[in-house]
Formats: sequence, structure tokens, C-alpha cells
Amino acid sequence: MMVVVMQQEASLHEVSAVLRMVEAEGLTPRISNSSGRTSIGVINATPELRPELFAALPGVEEVTGLKRPFKLASREFCPQDTLVHVRHVVIGAERVCLMAGPCSVETEEQTQAAAEAVLADGAQILRGGAYKPRSSPYSFQGLAVKGLEILARVRERTGLPVVTEVIAPELVPLVADYADMLQIGARNMQNFALLEAAGQCNKPVLLKRGLMASIEELLMSAEYLLANGNSQVVLCERGIRTFETYTRNTLDINAVPLLKQLTHLPVIVDPSHATGKRDLVAATSRAAIAAGADGLIVEVHHDPDHAWSDGAQSLAPQQFQAMIPGLRRIADAVDRSL
Ligand code: PEP
Ligand code: MN
Repeated sequence: MMVVVMQQEASLHEVSAVLRMVEAEGLTPRISNSSGRTSIGVINATPELRPELFAALPGVEEVTGLKRPFKLASREFCPQDTLVHVRHVVIGAERVCLMAGPCSVETEEQTQAAAEAVLADGAQILRGGAYKPRSSPYSFQGLAVKGLEILARVRERTGLPVVTEVIAPELVPLVADYADMLQIGARNMQNFALLEAAGQCNKPVLLKRGLMASIEELLMSAEYLLANGNSQVVLCERGIRTFETYTRNTLDINAVPLLKQLTHLPVIVDPSHATGKRDLVAATSRAAIAAGADGLIVEVHHDPDHAWSDGAQSLAPQQFQAMIPGLRRIADAVDRSL
């Protein structure tokens, strides 16, 4: 990708002239307004495209390439932290964002109970899957549209914005109609048709790291969303597969500070899927905040032992409540609030 960096004092008119030139070449511009100057990423630039074409235009400071394979997601392209807005909630700012709720939407009463509990303890976003990508075709697959309707009604009653998973490209318009944020799950991190569809919708996206995906692969998947026009992307470290069998996955805590270096996108941690064990959720949540995570997504169920999915890693409301003061103290220690 070629990047046209405008001078600090470039006028709107000069920026538009560059945008017109990009479009005249049949290419797509993507704008970054970080640190007071405008940069224009030129998507799909072929090797024949000559930098001089843009370098000669008034208001242009320089035309550069970016050395990393991810471009729009990189800190080089956009040095300033991106803030992601989920209704009234901001992710990536000083306040650590707590997302919580059941693994799956099971019933209206169950979803409402979880929502009320997590809201009372300071959660800002309700999670809950209506479409569940399960390892076994015989496991509960989610309530589908009925689950989306439940989420919408619970949002209506509690005021909590909703994040929920979308598992297929053709479901993006439907899920985007109900949800405030679309979740792309670990198993779908490299479903490129799904990334393209989510990139073209106008809802923020929570992109989870694949079970066996490298950090660069995660960033390349984010790049698909950004290149397709959606800049409201939050990354989620949710544990990766290792030789260890005591835990469901291994939380890659390295990913948090590393991603914060490599990208301007907010980074959150899912301690529930990262451990698979509810007893480990509080400690790994504290570690995530200490490492610089912008948020957490935690599974909470009013009766975890009878949850239809992921009960072993789900916290009961009182366990969720009990870990909050510790999270606040860690947030305070790293100059954040919660
Ligand atoms: C989930 O959030 O319930 C889920 C299925 O997560 P992941 O995609 O990280 O496994
Ligand atoms: Mn789950």
C-alpha cells in the first residue's frame, strides 16, 4: 500500500485533490487523521503506480510505502489510538471496558438475569451468542433470530449495548440489525468472506484471535475489515492452543503489549475462553489489565453449572462481583479506571 502524507497545514481542497487523483486511477483511498495531519492510504496500488503522481500535488509532504504486511492497522499509518464507539460506550480510552454476559443466549429470563447482574457491577456491554460455532454438530447451536430478539429486548430494558457473534457472511445484515457490535469468533478469524461482509457493514467489530493464529495473522484479518471500510475494530486475545492440557487454552499475555505497539486498534482480553476454568478468570483478568488491555469480555451465568455452553468457565454473578475491586486496584495502578 502506498501512503500519501499531507503537510500539517494542507487544506481540505488539497486533500480532496489527492482523493480525486486516487479515484481517477481506479483505486480506493483510506484516510487517517492521526496527530493533526492527514494520511491517505492507497489500497490495491499496483507496482506501476508512480509515487511522483501524488508527490507533485500541492499540500503533499511525502509519498511512502509501509514495510509491515498490515498497513491500515499499523501504528505507522495511524500513530494515535483508535477509539471504538459502541453506542455511548468508548473502547480504547482511559476507562477499561467491561463486557460480560452468558456464553449463549438460552432464555429471556437467563439473559435478563445475567444482564442485570453484570450491569450492577459496572459492565458496559452485554455479551451473548445467538449463533454458536460449536465443535460438535450435536451441541447447542444457539437460538438464532430468537436469540437476537431476546438480546434486543434485554438491551431495551437495561440500556446495555449488545455484542454478539456472526458466523456467516450472509448473516451480517441480520445480526447488524440487532447488535451494537459484531463478534467474529476465533474459528472464523480467517473466514475472509465474513471479514469482507463485516468490513462493509456499519457496526463496530470485535475480532477474536484464532486458536492457532499468530499475532501477524490476527492483524492481517483486522486489515481485511479496515480495507473494506470499517475502521471500528477491537482485537481480542482469547488464548491460543498449546501443549498444556490443564487449561482450555493458554492466555498469550505477550499479545497485549505487543499488539498495543503494532496497532492503533483497541485490544481486549477474554479470560474465560483463555483459561476454560472459572477459578482462573479473576487472576488472568487482573493480568490483562496490568498488561495494558483496553477491556475484558467475561462469561457470566446465573447458574453456571446448568449453562447450555461453557459453564465450566462461566462466573456466577457473585464471583463476577467479587473480582471487580481487584480489577479496579490494578486499573488504578496502570493509570486507568474501570
Ligand atoms: C464465545 O465468545 O463464546 C466464543 C465462541 O469465543 P471464541 O470464538 O473465542 O472461541
Ligand atoms: Mn463461550
